[in-house]
Formats: sequence, C-alpha cells, structure tokens
Amino acid sequence: MIVRPVVEAYAEAHSTGEPPGLAALAEETRGLCEVPQMMVGPMQGHLLALLVGMLRARDVLEIGTFTGYSALCMAAELPPDGTLVTCEVDPGHAAIARRHFAASPYADRIELRLGPALEQLKSMEGPFDFVFIDADKQGYADYYDAVLPRLSETGVIAVDNVLQFGGVANPLDDKPDTVALRAFNDKVRDDPRVEQVMLTVREGITLIRRVRAR
Ligand code: SAM
Repeated sequence: MIVRPVVEAYAEAHSTGEPPGLAALAEETRGLCEVPQMMVGPMQGHLLALLVGMLRARDVLEIGTFTGYSALCMAAELPPDGTLVTCEVDPGHAAIARRHFAASPYADRIELRLGPALEQLKSMEGPFDFVFIDADKQGYADYYDAVLPRLSETGVIAVDNVLQFGGVANPLDDKPDTVALRAFNDKVRDDPRVEQVMLTVREGITLIRRVRAR
C-alpha cells in the first residue's frame, strides 16, 4: 500500500463493496494460504471489473490466478459469450480457484490453464480485449512481449505491482523483484508502440494500450 492507511481505508469505504460470493473466497484464502495478500482485494478487484465492463471486453486473459479472486471480479463483467482464460502454475492455488469458479455463475466462461504461463501462451492466439498480468514479477517483461501482439485493436493490458511499495523509486532497493519491475517499467515507457498510465492504486497498476493513429 503506497497511500497512507487512513486514506486507503477512506477510499475503500467510498468504493463499491465486495460482492457476497467473493467474501467467502477471500475468507478461505486468508485461512488456507500463506500469503493471502496476493489477492487483489475489493477495491482493485472492482477497478478491474469496471475496466472489463467499460471496455466491453469479450475475451480476457489473466496471468496469475492464485485462488481466483481477480478472475471472478472480471468474469462478472463478461457478456454471456465472453471468455476468461487464467493461467496458474501452482496446483494448490489452482484447485481452490477451480472450486470457486465451478460454484460461481460464470463457470462456463472461465478456463483455468495449469502450468507456466509462457508455455500456455504458446497455444493461445488471442486477440484479447483485456489482459491482467499478476504473476512472478521477473517474468513480466516476457509476458508483456508475448501478449502485446495478441491484444485486440482496442485492447488494454493491466499490470499489477509495478511500484513494489515504492521500492522502484528508491535506488537503494535492490531486491530482485524491485530490480525486475524497474527494468519492466522502463521498457514500457520506452516502447513507442504503446501509451500507458501508471496508477498509484495499492502497489501500483499500469494500464497499457497500443498507440492509435490520430
Ligand atoms: N490475480 C490473483 C488474485 O488477485 O487473486 C493474484 C495472483 S498472485 C499475486 C500470483 C500468482 O501467480 C500465484 O498464485 C503464483 O503461483 C502464480 N504464478 C507464479 N509464477 C507463475 C507462472 N510462471 N505461470 C503462471 N502462474 C504463475
């Protein structure tokens, strides 16, 4: 969290709350998983849902399922013929997510692919209208390179954790994830094919789209 906790709590209290089905998943995740804070949480989950809805996205890709919180937020905004493919490498995380997907009203729209995301991406053509990257931080540059050509013309990529609690702006922070994110952020900034905005929501989210001919 980058903003002061009191401000974060205020913003959360003035944003639409968590849908009932997701509260149960969040509670189970907190009970079963060692790092439950990997879940995006209610406010960021709602931001993702709004983006998917506002873009009228039909085909969504997620890299990093964990227990399925963000996937369920986004799936709720898909049209009946929409699809969400989500990739997860950890079978334990995938098992929890699969159970909650099956019990949700969106079971027919969500496909979980178990295995390293880069491998899974080889068999996906796209185009995707919305991509959420939220897996191992050192893989971000490869995920970006793999998904940009698979983005639909009006598609958007959302990338989570880009600020690493502010560590990217601290030259003394040399943690491997921070170093990887710093390089990733520079790569996106210097890519003439895209335009992007880095939001200071939670650990930072960058929204990226292809540059449009004007
Ligand atoms: N988006 C999820 C949510 O909001 O609930 C949180 C995702 S969590 C931050 C990152 C997930 O990426 C973990 O469950 C981890 O096992 C998974 N992961 C790590 N490396 C991966 C890889 N190479 N391919 C697919 N998933 C990976």
